[in-house]
Order: sequence, then C-alpha cells, then structure tokens
Amino acid sequence: MSVVVLPDNVVNQIAAGEVVQRPVAAVKELIENSLDAGATYVEVEFAHGGKSLLRVKDNGSGMSAQDAGLALERHATSKLRTAEDLNALLTFGFRGEALPSIASISKFTLRTRLQDQPCGTEVFVNSGKLIHQHECGMAPGTSIEVVHLFGNVPARRKFLKSDNVEAAHIIQLVRLYSIAYPAVSFVLMEEGRTLFSTTAGLPLTERVQSVWSGVQAQDFIEFEESFSDFSCQGLLSKPSVSRSTRQDIITFVNGRPVDSRVLKSAISEGYHTFIPKGRYPLVFLFITVKPELVDVNIHPTKQEIRFRNEAKVRRLVSEMVLERLQELSRPLENTEDEPGLPPVADVFELRQGAASLLHGDEPVEPEAQAPKAAVALAPVSKPKPVVQTPTQERFTWRYVGKVRRRYALFETEAGLILFNMRAAHERVLYERIMAHKEVNAQQLLIPISLELQALEATVLEEALGLFQEVGFEIAPFGRNFFRVEALPDWISQEQGEAFIRDALGVIREQGSQKGKGNFIHEVIARLASSRAVRVDDGLNEGSIVDLAKSLLRCECPLTSPRGNPTYVELGDSEIDRRMSISVKTA
Ligand code: ADP
Ligand code: MG
Repeated sequence: MSVVVLPDNVVNQIAAGEVVQRPVAAVKELIENSLDAGATYVEVEFAHGGKSLLRVKDNGSGMSAQDAGLALERHATSKLRTAEDLNALLTFGFRGEALPSIASISKFTLRTRLQDQPCGTEVFVNSGKLIHQHECGMAPGTSIEVVHLFGNVPARRKFLKSDNVEAAHIIQLVRLYSIAYPAVSFVLMEEGRTLFSTTAGLPLTERVQSVWSGVQAQDFIEFEESFSDFSCQGLLSKPSVSRSTRQDIITFVNGRPVDSRVLKSAISEGYHTFIPKGRYPLVFLFITVKPELVDVNIHPTKQEIRFRNEAKVRRLVSEMVLERLQELSRPLENTEDEPGLPPVADVFELRQGAASLLHGDEPVEPEAQAPKAAVALAPVSKPKPVVQTPTQERFTWRYVGKVRRRYALFETEAGLILFNMRAAHERVLYERIMAHKEVNAQQLLIPISLELQALEATVLEEALGLFQEVGFEIAPFGRNFFRVEALPDWISQEQGEAFIRDALGVIREQGSQKGKGNFIHEVIARLASSRAVRVDDGLNEGSIVDLAKSLLRCECPLTSPRGNPTYVELGDSEIDRRMSISVKTA
C-alpha cells in the first residue's frame, strides 16, 4: 500500500461526521454564520425534519463572488488568521469547516450578494463537487439551501431519528437563538408554513413569551448584575412557578446557548430554599464574560463551555439568584399574589409548586425536609414492624384521634400506631395508579387546550395510550397542540395542565434509555403521589380509617414511594419500659 493524500471531498466528508451529526447541527452552523455576518433578519425553513430541505436566509454582509467560491474550500474562513486569534474570538465560527462539510454530504446551493453590489452569485455543489457558479439576481445577504442532507452517506442517514424528532430539535434550536438575539428578527418555517416569528427589539420577557409556549410575563422577575469578571442578566421564574426537570433552565454565554452544568447547578442552588425538592425553576440566564475566560472549543458542536474561574462564577450566580428571590419574597408576604389553600372539595388535592412553602407561618412539610430523596421503591428508613405486621384479612386498628394535623393515632392489640396520613396517601395513590385498576376519568366540561414544545409533543404523541390508561383523555389537535378532555379523579382541573407538562418533562429527560410502558406509568404514579397533599381538616375519622385500610392492602405498605415511613409503631412493652424509668432531676 502506498501513502496518499486524501482528496478534499473525502476529508470533508470525514469532517462532516464530526461537525454535522444531524440536521439540527447544520442549521446551527448556518444560523451562526448569518449572525457572524451581522444579519438582523434570519429565516430558517426546513422540510421532513431537515432531511429533504434546509434553507437559511439572511440580510447580512453577503460575500463577493470570489469569497463565495473560497468559502466552500476547506479551512477557508474570514474570521481567523493566526492561532493566537483563537483566544480573542467573539464570532461563532472559526474553523472554516462547516460549509465545505455540509456541501460534501448534500446538494448545496449558496447564493450571496454584497450589500453594495448590483447582483449576487450562485454556487451549486453536489456531494462536494462544484457543478456551477454564476451571477444571479437577489436581495443583499446570503441564502444557503441544503437538499438531501446525508443523501450520499446512507450509513449516517440510518442514525437519524424520525422527521418529527429531527424537526423538534431544529425548532428548539431556533427558539434558543431567537431568545439569545433580541436585535435579530427570526422566522421559522416548515414546508412553507410559519411556525413562529419574532420581532427585533422587543423586551426579553415578550421575546420569551412569543417563542416559549406556556409561559407568561408575570411568571418572571428580571435581573441584571455586573461583577468584576463577568455580568449576567435575564429572567428568573417566581417560586410559585416550577417544573419537574431542569430543561427550562436555559443558559447563554456570550450569546451562545450552552449547556453548562456549573450554571445550572448554581441556579438550582440559589432556588434551593424557595422550591421544594424535585422541582426546578424556569430561568433564562445570559452571561457575558471576556472570551479569554472561557473555553468554548472543547467540543466540535461547541455546546459545552468551561469557565476558567468556575468556582467563582458558580458562587456569584447562586448568590445573585438567592438575593433576588429573597427580595421578592419579602413584600410577597402580604400581597394578593399569595396562593390560597387548595379547595377542600376533594379529600386530597395536588399541590402546585411551592405554594405551601410560601406561607411563612406554615410548618415545612416533612417531605420537603426529608433526607436525600428516596429513589425507586427502596425505603430510606424502614420502620421495623415490632408489634404487628400488616394483614390483608382483618383491620384491627382502633382510631384514637388526630395529632398535629398530619398524623393520626391508632391503638392496636399490641401497642400504639402513629399514622402518617400524607405518606399513606402517597402510597395508596401510587399503587392504585400502578395497578391500572380503578380508572376514574372525569370528563371536563371545557377541555383544556395544551400547546407543547415540539420535543414534549413528540413524547406525548407516543405516550397517549399510556396516559389514557390512567385516566387522561387527550386528543391531538394539530401540530404541538392537544386537547385534554378528561382527567383522572385524583387530580383537580386547575392542576391538570401543569401535571401533564411535568410528567412529559420527566419522561423526556429520563425516558430514552428506559423501557416504555411501565416506565411512563411509573413516572405518572410517582409524580401524582409526590404531589398529593393532605387537606387535613377535611379528613374525618371515617376517611382516615378508610385510608389506613387501603394502606394495609398495599403491596408495600410500610413506606411512601419516596421512602418516608407511613406509620411508626410503639409496642406495649416499649411503652411500659419507658414509663418505668424514673426521670432523673438534676
Ligand atoms: P467559519 O464560520 O468557521 O469561518 P464556515 O465554513 O462556516 O466557516 O464559513 C466559511 C466562510 O464563509 C466564513 O468565514 C464567512 O466568511 C463566509 N460565510 C459563511 N456564511 C456566510 C453568511 N451567511 N454571510 C456571509 N458570509 C458567510
Ligand atoms: Mg461557520
């Protein structure tokens, strides 16, 4: 075998594997090029999840005919001259790889016109081969059209997901950039239909509202703060608004949407005492930092970044979040913003977000301060059944009374039982949902209409049947729109929408690796039970006894699904022993 230098189109195809794994990656490169070119208008269109068509059009600087040809050559870039420049880069691209890579795996048309030129130039490349370049009439700016991405690389095509999933990723990406660039108008189209568009110059809250479905301006507080090395600004959700996953914590660094563990955990830390365990805020955080203080090129898709002074960034961000939330909660104590208690109509109500934690005078619920969240069914601290093991046959507990609103006291043949009503209810509800048994759907007089983010919509479409099994009747109603026609009886109408969103969030975050049916079922059951709250005053002796009976019929009656004890037993001998010890005085 002899050594050969690989032809450029082979090198490009190899590089394409790194730069462009799926359609959304190509869209990202093209949008970033448009932004680098100073565009104030960026239009993105796609068809079939980007597999058959991608087009990004902008009104940026454009290129000369000569540069247009050069741009398609490997390592042709207008943004970097020497290796030292790397450190001071403010633009997105710098490797000069994206265009030739994409052009090597598609039918690629570049049309571009400089602002001060009378006409533009069109370059057509098929699978990396230049087919033609000629003059064309067009408005100033650049339009790049990518047809049949991966058409000549069937091996890579196989790894692409369904059109819907690929489309969902593109939509999410364009949302992120739309929010990151308030001075740019974005339009996103699918097969000729506009999915959304934004207007340049609107304040951030309005911007977020127009692209992020299901949020409202009054859900947020704005913040802006400068530190010595960096500044940050953005939106923090109020403690009463929360989600079941971290997916709506959106972070940008120097205008780039990034996935930063450091920032996400700093934010969660700041919210720590304001939001119950297992709930997450919605946050749009923009960090501006000197380029030399971050590493951005550690990954070809450049979504991850590393701060040079990570510990400091982390501390300052979490302190800033904490301070803003503290400021907010001070006047809140006596405003009408304060959420009221849930209605006592049903014995058990779902709790919404941190509502109950906002009441300063209310005792913090035991679950909120429980030790580390219990995972799966494994109990954290299993009460030892010293006196009586639960029996299916005969219920022998005698009701004595309620204790501290949360507990009930029972007497048994062998001692006393302190019964944790909330934990018991969680267990009963959890097993009931898991058993798919009594599905009591309550039809809604007015259906709830639900608009979802594209990724969540895909999840819901696939899981509709499973939701139905537990009492949700949900009908698809156009792209990303659904109509909720019935809810299971354990959820109140006001909380139906938030519940579905939360469940989808968890399924989306954890779901891909797990077995479908049972997993989704479990997510629903766990979420339902963990949000169940006792409305203690509404419970009379009869319903407490019923609850205890139902508990003892459960498969795992000793703990709640989160591992909290459902009851504690005190045997007669233990009581006697304690009573016979003389208490020492001084
Ligand atoms: P990079 O962005 O890393 O420089 P690309 O392959 O993405 O490499 O682009 C190559 C060059 O083509 C860019 O440096 C830029 O000069 C030019 N270019 C690409 N897209 C546009 C655009 N939308 N408007 C103006 N110039 C562009
Ligand atoms: Mg680029």
